[in-house]
Amino acid sequence: MDPGTGAVRTTARVNARTWSATRVKMIDPYPLQNGETNSMHVFYEHVAQGRLTTTRCKGCNTLSWPPRRFCGECCSDQFDWVDLPNHGRIHGYSIQEAGVPAGFRKPLIFAVVEVAGLRMFTTLVEADPQAVGVGKPVRFTPMAVTDGPGGAKRFLPAFTLA
Ligand SMILES: [Zn+2]
Repeated sequence: MDPGTGAVRTTARVNARTWSATRVKMIDPYPLQNGETNSMHVFYEHVAQGRLTTTRCKGCNTLSWPPRRFCGECCSDQFDWVDLPNHGRIHGYSIQEAGVPAGFRKPLIFAVVEVAGLRMFTTLVEADPQAVGVGKPVRFTPMAVTDGPGGAKRFLPAFTLA
């Protein structure tokens, strides 16, 4: 296996013929950020730049969340990337005290945040759980996660109390 790409060379003998193929081992925990395999990687490039964006359909002008490759209203695959405000309000939340995955601080605070009329499931970072509440203002704060293949910095969209 190539540790840089996760590619694995597979060779097998089937019906007296030998075939081989290269397959990508699915070890990337954030495959949506991979520009080689996913067209929505642009969203994560924006997140890394500190921009919260989504797609707006060129056919019917529908603003989508999450960003979409195809419009659910008119089936168009033509869209523009648009910037959203970097602030919103907590619509609902949940605090996870136990079973937090390795590498994440305890407790984890999950929230549905409303931004420009769109409701986003997200994580609240650097927030005092006692201060979290429905209706509280929050601001967009990209959360660094594991580097990608080749050492590329990666981020997930997150929010913190404003
Ligand atoms: Zn549309």
